[in-house]
Order: sequence, then C-alpha cells, then structure tokens
Amino acid sequence: MNINFYNKSDEIMDRGLLEKKQLEKIRSLVNRALATPFYKTLLADVGIRNGKDIRSFRDYQQIPFTQKDDLRKAFPSGMLAIPREKVIRLHASSGTTGIPTVIYHSKNDIDNWTDLLARSLAATGCTEQDVLQNMMSYGLFTGGLGMHYGAERLGMMVIPASAGNTQRQLNMLRNFAVTVVHATPSYLLHIYSRLDSYGFSLKDFNLKKAMVGAEPHSEDTRKKIESLFKIDVYNSYGLSEMNGPGVAFECVYKTGMHLWEDAYFMEIINPDTLEPQPEGGQGELVLSTLNREATPILRYRTRDLTSILPGACECGRVHRRITRIIGRSDDMLIINGVNVFPSQIEEVIMRMPEVGTNYQIVLEKKGSLDQIIIKTEVHQGIFNDNTRELNQLSKRIAENLKTSISINPKVELHEPGQLPVYEGKAKRVFDNREKI
Ligand code: ADP
Ligand code: ZN
Repeated sequence: MNINFYNKSDEIMDRGLLEKKQLEKIRSLVNRALATPFYKTLLADVGIRNGKDIRSFRDYQQIPFTQKDDLRKAFPSGMLAIPREKVIRLHASSGTTGIPTVIYHSKNDIDNWTDLLARSLAATGCTEQDVLQNMMSYGLFTGGLGMHYGAERLGMMVIPASAGNTQRQLNMLRNFAVTVVHATPSYLLHIYSRLDSYGFSLKDFNLKKAMVGAEPHSEDTRKKIESLFKIDVYNSYGLSEMNGPGVAFECVYKTGMHLWEDAYFMEIINPDTLEPQPEGGQGELVLSTLNREATPILRYRTRDLTSILPGACECGRVHRRITRIIGRSDDMLIINGVNVFPSQIEEVIMRMPEVGTNYQIVLEKKGSLDQIIIKTEVHQGIFNDNTRELNQLSKRIAENLKTSISINPKVELHEPGQLPVYEGKAKRVFDNREKI
C-alpha cells in the first residue's frame, strides 16, 4: 500500500509527546477561552482563572461541557475571543436541528484548518495529479470552502462545482477528467441513478475516489458506491463547531477515521450519565478545539455516537481512529418501545442487492401503536418483474428488519427516481406521530 503523508512529523509521532503537546495546548486554549464572556463565567464557577490551573487531563475534565445551545445563546459574538478586526471569516452550521450557530475564524484558524484537510486528502492518496470536483454547497456550510482550501493547498486542481444540478455535475466530471469528488453519500447514489437518463456511462469518466461525509451512512452504503462507480470511497467527518470537514478522516486502509488529535482533544462519554466511557466503549464524542483562536470551544458535546478503535492503524499514524458515526444521541427513534437508529435500518436494507439508491423512513400513529413505513427504491430491472416477485421482495426486506433490529415495518417499493433527492444532507426520517 502506498502511504502518503502531508506532514509526516505531525502524523507519526510518539504518543507520549502528542499527549504532552495536547496538555500544553489545553492550557493555552483555556487562556484564550477566558477572553470570552461565556467561558469567563463558566470557568470561574469551577475555580479556573488561568490555564496554569490545569495540571492534568483529569483537571481539564472537571470543566462543564459546552452544548449547541450555549453557542446559540452566545449569538452573535459571546464566544468571540479575539478583536473583530482579527477575524477573517465566519461559518454557520446547517441548522439540521434548529437555529444555526456561528463560528469565527482568524487567519491562523483558516490556515490550520486548511492544513488538516490537506493532510486528510493526502492520507487517502490524493496528490497534485488529482482533479477534485467539490459537490458540497459553497457558502455558510463548511463542506464547500473548507475542502476547497485544503485541496488547493495540496496542489490539486479544484472545481468549485457546489451542490446540485446533476446534469452539470456529470458534464464537468467528464469534461475535466475529474479523479476525486467530494459529496454526500446520498447525492453520489442519486448521481449514479441518473447516469443513463442523461446519456452517460462509467466509461465517460476518469473517477478514482470519493470523499463522502456530512451525513451518517453505513459500511454497506460505502460498498455500494464503491462497486457502482468502481472507485474508492473514504469517510470524512466534521462539524462546523469544530471548523467543518477535516476533524476525522479515513486513510487508505479504510479501517475507521483518524481523528486529528493534535488539533482536537477527544473524549467519549456516556450521553445519559455524562461519565467517561471505558476504553473502546461506544458513546458521545466530545471535542475541544486545541488550536482555534477566534472561537475556542472547550469540551463540546457533538451528540455524535461513535467509539475509539483499539490498536494502531497499519499506516502508522499516531492519531487514534473512531468508528463511523452510528447516529446522533438525539436522533434515536423509539418505535413501540424499541430503540432504533436510522443508521441501523440503512445497514439492513443497503445490504440487499435489489435495493436501489434512495430510501425514507416514515413514522405514523395507528391507534395507540407506532407504525413504521420503509419506502425504498429498487433497481429498474426488478420493477419490471412481476408483482409476485415484488411482493416477495417487500416481505424479505420486512423480515430482515425484524430479525436484525426487531421492528415490524410496512415496506413500500418505488421505482428509481421516485423518492425526493436532497442536494445537501439527505432527509431520511419523517416522523408524523403526534408529538406529546
Ligand atoms: P448541523 O449540526 O446543523 O447538521 P453541520 O453541517 O456542522 O451542521 O453538520 C455536522 C454533523 O453532520 C455532525 O455533527 C454529524 O452529525 C454529521 N456528519 C458529518 N460528517 C459525517 C460522517 N462522515 N458520518 C456521519 N455523520 C456525519
Ligand atoms: Zn491509517
């Protein structure tokens, strides 16, 4: 395997040295945070008046968590730690779960973030030979500009395509011999389903890799995209509160995402008790921005559920790996008392080869019971088959869901292209049950 490094000394380093650096960075992070009204109060409450008060990670872990709501309350600039004239950009989260939050960046912040993305892309084997078409939306969303800067820094040729307009995307893919795309997994599956109708075939392209992120997706969805396009697909994780993409990224071995621990201090907690999880345990990811100047954030509860993978990666990087995100602690569905994450449903249905590239989960109330309806597209060929076979397929999907995750759904099969498509993050779950 060909292993590329962007900055080898930062990627392969003694673990002890990394942790020593982290602790130093935590002390200066606390000092920067003390310049904001929000953290000044929060830290005073736990008796911290200077970074020097933090003598160990354990000391640091006595500081209360920061939550999305704190960022909202601090709107627009209660968490700004530097003079306004030192800020060169702001980004805001896409607001999947409510009012957006604003993150400010200094020149150094953009520079450091850009380095993390250059490092991430290099880890997947990208070089200046590559042409990247960035299908994430440009604007306040971080997937556009964030990835753009990182790819340019690595010397890749970048096409700032932004999201949407499938035919235009396909034209660019062909005309500029694009080798790498950055997109949501759902949009890539959609593009594939439209190839025929726009008169394209895989032979028209020179595509080698896709960087996918911004939404949860299963290992089977990755495999599906890889086998449909005959490319390598790499998982990319980030959130705007922690800059955006470039928080954790897969390397060529595709065995979990390296979380860049020289930029983010990572903890995994039990979302109910808020206690640290034992090593390797699954829980909520909590992150701190070790380098950021403009908007320092301490112990941020991401709501994303994952776990730290044991052992070292074959690539030799010191940065530990996390598993793919299985969902957000706030998106768990409770269906007739059974707890299910949408990602579990996706995992089961995407494993079935007959299932197409788009699906929806609809929840309704039927009397006092919850009813779950899985709407999924199937491949055209199957739709041309007789009704009996289609009925059998719905039955098999329902049975697989029942055996794997104990839900009893109604399954509706749709022809390709019938379910709505999203250019950004896909909306998969429609909960029409009455909220109490
Ligand atoms: P919002 O929180 O409003 O959706 P962001 O655009 O910052 O705003 O989205 C970040 C969130 O997107 C993450 O917290 C996570 O839930 C999800 N996400 C990002 N990348 C991935 C990924 N590779 N796998 C699963 N979920 C992801
Ligand atoms: Zn690796």
